[in-house]
Amino acid sequence: MRAAIAAAEVDPDLDVAVVSKVYPMRSHTVAAEGGMAGVVKDNDSFENHIYDTISGSDWLADQDAVEEFVKEAPGELIQLEHWGCPWSREPDGRISVRPFGGMQIERTWYAADKTGFHVLHSLFQTSLKYNNITRYDEWFAAELLVGDGRCQGVVAIEQRTGEVHGIVGGATIMCTGGGGQVFKFTTNASIKTGDGMALAYRAGVALKDMEFVQYHPTGLLGSGILITEATRGEGGVLLNKDGQRYLQDHDLGEPLDVTDPEHPQTRTMELGPRDRLSQAFIREEEAGNVLVGPQGSYVHLDIRHLGEEVIDTRLPFVRELARNYAGVDPVHEMIPVRPVVHYMMGGIDTGIDAATSLPGLYAAGECACVSINGANRLGSNSLTELLVFGLRAGHNAAGFALKHEISDKGALEAQVVTVKKRIASFMDKGHGGDERIAVLKNEMAETMEEGVGIFRQEGSMRRTCDRLGELRARFENVKLDDTVLRHNTELRAALELDFLLDVAQSVAFSAIARQESRGSHQRTDFPARNDERYLKHSLAYRTDGEPQIEYGDVTITRWPPADRVYGN
Ligand SMILES: Cc1cc2nc3c(=O)[nH]c(=O)nc-3n(C[C@H](O)[C@H](O)[C@H](O)COP(=O)(O)OP(=O)(O)OC[C@H]3O[C@@H](n4cnc5c(N)ncnc54)[C@H](O)[C@@H]3O)c2cc1C
Repeated sequence: MRAAIAAAEVDPDLDVAVVSKVYPMRSHTVAAEGGMAGVVKDNDSFENHIYDTISGSDWLADQDAVEEFVKEAPGELIQLEHWGCPWSREPDGRISVRPFGGMQIERTWYAADKTGFHVLHSLFQTSLKYNNITRYDEWFAAELLVGDGRCQGVVAIEQRTGEVHGIVGGATIMCTGGGGQVFKFTTNASIKTGDGMALAYRAGVALKDMEFVQYHPTGLLGSGILITEATRGEGGVLLNKDGQRYLQDHDLGEPLDVTDPEHPQTRTMELGPRDRLSQAFIREEEAGNVLVGPQGSYVHLDIRHLGEEVIDTRLPFVRELARNYAGVDPVHEMIPVRPVVHYMMGGIDTGIDAATSLPGLYAAGECACVSINGANRLGSNSLTELLVFGLRAGHNAAGFALKHEISDKGALEAQVVTVKKRIASFMDKGHGGDERIAVLKNEMAETMEEGVGIFRQEGSMRRTCDRLGELRARFENVKLDDTVLRHNTELRAALELDFLLDVAQSVAFSAIARQESRGSHQRTDFPARNDERYLKHSLAYRTDGEPQIEYGDVTITRWPPADRVYGN
């Protein structure tokens, strides 16, 4: 939406198409709760936000990209206010900010705990003002159109009818979100199947830093629904089975001095980086210190001390979710939580201008890897990233489109025909396959959890890589029961699984190749960070067999690699 508005503003004669497989308001962004980061208070500085982001990324972020991101963020947040976003405020009317994990200072803007909902609505209603934006709601992009060595649009299925169309364009921007569905227990909506990543990957663009998968420490037991970090930002604490704040026993990135009640870490340990908090859970589990129930092991998130009024004003959605999906009222009871797959730091390799290596193809948002998140994203940087890099993608793609006519129409038409044939082959009753989509998806998610979960090591990762190869082969025999084209959700699930398998392979193969521990990538067989060999972005390229892994440089400008710290 942000990219579309930016592109539409470049030239009113440009025709901007927004293609979305769901009605845009149902995009995963709507589920974001906690808020978005941007320097606004006098006690904060760009320098602080830059340092937190780089340190949080375990030095894998590109520092030029982080610097521009941080500097452009406040302007975008104010712009969003002008477009109607109802930011929560202080009693004196100024913007209110809340603390978030891994940030030294409170800098997360929020709209209660429904930030994503309000952001998406503000952008959507603004986009309606532009007559040159046309929406293709519930159209599914199945392939990129490539001709003359550049991207010239997408092949899309109009889901209502099942018809296949070529949507041509001088430039194309992927804003297709993440792919958390490659894992079993995830906060990610079922539509987050990494489609855009796989589409770019198939067109020869590298997927960057895919081994870095973020676990959020507080997913609601059972469903995996996110209990936002804002809950801890407001003062929530994590307790093990003995009712102890167990984080004090774990290394969260800074020497602990918990005997001193005034030490900031006694207040902020729950706001340590997400990767460290998730790892601490596994260590507690190994030590037998967590609770165990029919839905697996968990710990408690306690916000009872905040009181009903604070909970209802600042965390109303958390109360609603805990009541509806775990049957506990956080005003009186503790919330059962455990780590859950939440976000992919990796994605389509782009430069700071949002352009990919394929001319005419741009990417922004969670599907892209600029990279500002490196080996671990700080909470509340992601929504801001959508705005800053969405704007850039829109501007730059529009500039490219104005200079390039559609060409090589024969090749583009041939690709539409190829997609039609592929769909027809899925529909073919005589196809003879006997593999089920749900079974394959389940097996993929299980092997991902086993091999490339919170802690990783060579043997289990190798088994996951092999297993994914087998699943890829078995996918060719997938069987569909629904052979009617109109609104065929089974066909869509098959195409999504095809994309998921690509994403899963890029994650597993990038992980096994990186023989060090950094941020969210923790290897028990290589427990230390190794800057000499791996202060590098990994780049996965698709081949007919296993992905090929190469490495690219990380841009270091003013902040040489150091140990990670937070909360100081
Ligand atoms: C529960 C939850 C809470 C979060 N809370 C926060 C937070 O408080 N702060 C923060 O900074 N970040 C948060 N995040 C992360 C952040 O919300 C996401 O990274 C971000 O919203 C992703 O936005 P996006 O525009 O890249 O993708 P999405 O919002 O996922 O949108 C993707 C779009 O692409 C379309 N699409 C995908 N595939 C296709 C296809 N094949 N054909 C056509 N269209 C397609 C979809 O229809 C959709 O419109 C949270 C994430 C989750 C899951």
